Amino acid sequence: MSKSLEILNNVFGHEAFRGKQEDAVEAVISGRDVILLASTGGGKSVCYQIPALVRDGVGVVVSPLKALMKDQIDTLQFLGVAADTINSDVTGYDRLNVMNAIRKGEVDLLYVTPELLAQPKFMAFLKEVKIACFGIDEAHAASAYGHDFRPDYQVLGLLSHHFPGVPRIAVTATADPQTLADIKEMLNLHDALVLETSLDRTNISLSIEKRDSAKQQQAKMLEIIRSRQGQSGLVYCVGKNTVDKVAKWLASEGVSALPYHAGHSNTTREDNQEAFLRGEVDILVCTVAFGMGVDKSDVRYVIHNDMPSSIEAYQQETGRAGRDGLPSDAFMFVGNQDINIRKRMIRKSKGGAASKRTDNNKLDTLIGLAESVYCRRRAIINYFGKQFVGDCGNCDNCQREVEGVDVCAEILDIVGYLRDHAGVEDTHSMTVVARDRFAARRLTEERWSLIVRQMIVNGLVEVRHSDCGRLHLTAEGKAFTGDNPFLVVKKVALTSAKFAKSPRSRSLTVGKRASSPRKPRARAAAGDYMTKPRRSRRKANVGSPLLEALRAMRDKLAKEEGREPYFIIHDTALRQMAEVMPLTGDEMLTIKGVGQAKVASYAHRFIPVIRKHAA
Ligand code: ADP
Ligand code: ZN
Repeated sequence: MSKSLEILNNVFGHEAFRGKQEDAVEAVISGRDVILLASTGGGKSVCYQIPALVRDGVGVVVSPLKALMKDQIDTLQFLGVAADTINSDVTGYDRLNVMNAIRKGEVDLLYVTPELLAQPKFMAFLKEVKIACFGIDEAHAASAYGHDFRPDYQVLGLLSHHFPGVPRIAVTATADPQTLADIKEMLNLHDALVLETSLDRTNISLSIEKRDSAKQQQAKMLEIIRSRQGQSGLVYCVGKNTVDKVAKWLASEGVSALPYHAGHSNTTREDNQEAFLRGEVDILVCTVAFGMGVDKSDVRYVIHNDMPSSIEAYQQETGRAGRDGLPSDAFMFVGNQDINIRKRMIRKSKGGAASKRTDNNKLDTLIGLAESVYCRRRAIINYFGKQFVGDCGNCDNCQREVEGVDVCAEILDIVGYLRDHAGVEDTHSMTVVARDRFAARRLTEERWSLIVRQMIVNGLVEVRHSDCGRLHLTAEGKAFTGDNPFLVVKKVALTSAKFAKSPRSRSLTVGKRASSPRKPRARAAAGDYMTKPRRSRRKANVGSPLLEALRAMRDKLAKEEGREPYFIIHDTALRQMAEVMPLTGDEMLTIKGVGQAKVASYAHRFIPVIRKHAA
């Protein structure tokens, strides 16, 4: 019996590996980098935990949330595994004690936040000790194209520079092909073995319903909940206030429900979570704050009281139902109010223009899913870049007669246009084009926006985040002949985040492209830098905002280290950085005067600054 299987049996108490677990574990043990995509509840944790136990040294796990870490550490300690954490809550002697234990080789698994890894002092400490492997949880957070982007995660791209030869495994439940490519880039995992298990949770039935009125939704929710009395359910809401309101309303209807959100005191949260985990209360009404890392396998249904932010979020949240594999249900209610709330959240978010655009596009695609007349599961699986042939038979659309109007002619028109202008026109000028073209067809802007959304959801068109959100035809889109009807709903019930409502698209006129988003900066393949004479990608004047931001960062670093700014990095190097805009450690190395040591120490501080301006 292999060592890893022995540990799976004896330490974790599982009989056999499932999915791609064994491949992942063995690869990491042999020293290979791995990216593992597996659904929520797929058992990703053991894939970094077991190699940490088999290989010499301490396994370092990077996790975005302290709450997530705590759950895993508690479980591991219960199983007799020496697991610990250093984070901002662990200070003084406690921190020294953990560090000493690590030095003595007494810790198998150490959980840390990405912020901690960014601290040079901590990095220096890690270099003194033997590291078994790195586990990177929720790896989609490293990509601006994924949901829940965490700029802190980008420091992890430098691990290979700091710890050559130490294998890294990045795991996530949600990554569409563009996010996956970006994860590889950001985390410097180009040669990683990519393992994927099916994202399809066939045991979960999917239903999405347009909210006509709050009253109608309440009646429907009560019907769902009352027919499932005694079963565990989650009700996801957009914010704290809604959570409290819905929980109160359910209680007033005699339903066994408790609220859970970050605004409650720790004890209330823990009590309510415990009551739910133990089955003392049927329903937990919560924000997305609940669920990550919580392991309750018999949640029978998830209701989205409000619409989530993206298909990824929808997939992740509905995935909390039926981890035991038994039939479960996911219901989602959507309405224009939700769209407006989400739009506002995006507007107010801290992200830059590029991340807002990506978020809007993701919201748009979810709206497309909601208004599609075809199999929802197929759309979701396709969205994650996987083939799904036929209909699932387990979603609301599969269970009713497909109804709608055929828009093949319009689609052929758009396909023709995109074929001529592939990757040139962005979604905003697409708006213009379509308006122009469809004026003759007497279609409203909202109407053809819906058609474009349906092309996206049905895989004919891809919104390419790395190309300023421009629309590109997919292979399927290029092959579209219009021989079979392509149906969309008769009436536009949901308005989109962008196609219909962007003030910017309104103000654009054909031929006037001045306000369209900037062209993406050309990105050469990494190897090109070495051979071609490097030319500036964009002219950065002295004092350009990026250069100033880089200088500010350098001054900050100098202050932190109590050194002169030029010691950190020379002005000429900064200028070159502002011109070349390197986004990875390797690219950073092409800057004159920046060697391995500088990259290791500072690249993770400069790259986020550049990234912000690259948008
Ligand atoms: P993920 O991180 O992929 O969402 P977890 O690692 O939290 O999932 O695992 C989900 C559940 O599956 C946990 O209860 C875990 O103990 C269990 N599990 C993991 N691997 C196996 C296995 N090989 N056989 C049975 N149960 C497993
Ligand atoms: Zn279906």
